[in-house]
Amino acid sequence: MQILGFAKMTLLDYPEHVAATIFTGSCNFRCPFCHNGDLVLHPQDVPIISEEEVLCVLEKRRSLLDGVCITGGEPTLQPDLADFIKKIKQFGYLVKLDTNGYRPDKLAALLEEGLLDYVAMDIKNTKEKYAMTVGVPNLQISNIEKSVQLLLSCDIPYEFRTTAMRELHTLADFQNIGDWIAGAHAYFIQPYRESEQVISPGFHAHSPEELDEIKTTLQPYVKRVELRGIDE
Ligand code: SF4
Repeated sequence: MQILGFAKMTLLDYPEHVAATIFTGSCNFRCPFCHNGDLVLHPQDVPIISEEEVLCVLEKRRSLLDGVCITGGEPTLQPDLADFIKKIKQFGYLVKLDTNGYRPDKLAALLEEGLLDYVAMDIKNTKEKYAMTVGVPNLQISNIEKSVQLLLSCDIPYEFRTTAMRELHTLADFQNIGDWIAGAHAYFIQPYRESEQVISPGFHAHSPEELDEIKTTLQPYVKRVELRGIDE
């Protein structure tokens, strides 16, 4: 595992659980609004944290933590992800995977093996605007479609989520996304926030009124729709 970041305790990354978060390096997307520019663009320049060190901390913190969130970068690019999760699960932890959904076969295998307890998958935009939004001109949208279907039909908790930007997402786009993920358990709208780590700064969040309208637009399609990361 190429582990490039490790948060020993967080209340933010795994819904309703105290968790540690592991950040893997590299990504197969180039979202201009990505907040993990170093992990995506220059993973070779980020010091590697050894698997042994992470596992040692996790073993010691069993009484403090419920679960482990594995995020990135894109964790499904790690060839030994399944083996690593098995090691984590030996300590009794719940495991949450954050993924961009571009490797449906890998996601399917992890689900089939019972290695995941929660999946958060990004829906970057409508199918038509996906390639532009993730910075991959020859994107195969069928990969994302397969992952969406996998989650819609799986029996573990999951969420879809979108980082929303005025420049990339119209209200009609959210209606399209609603059509696409209709019947989903949960969908989170995360307003864009600028930071020093953003790959291409300069995007803007929607206004609070627009965000409320987006939420209302999605509610007929998804059981639970929430705005995340803002004070409502
Ligand atoms: S936002 Fe996620 S999918 Fe996009 S480049 Fe960053 S890590 Fe990869």
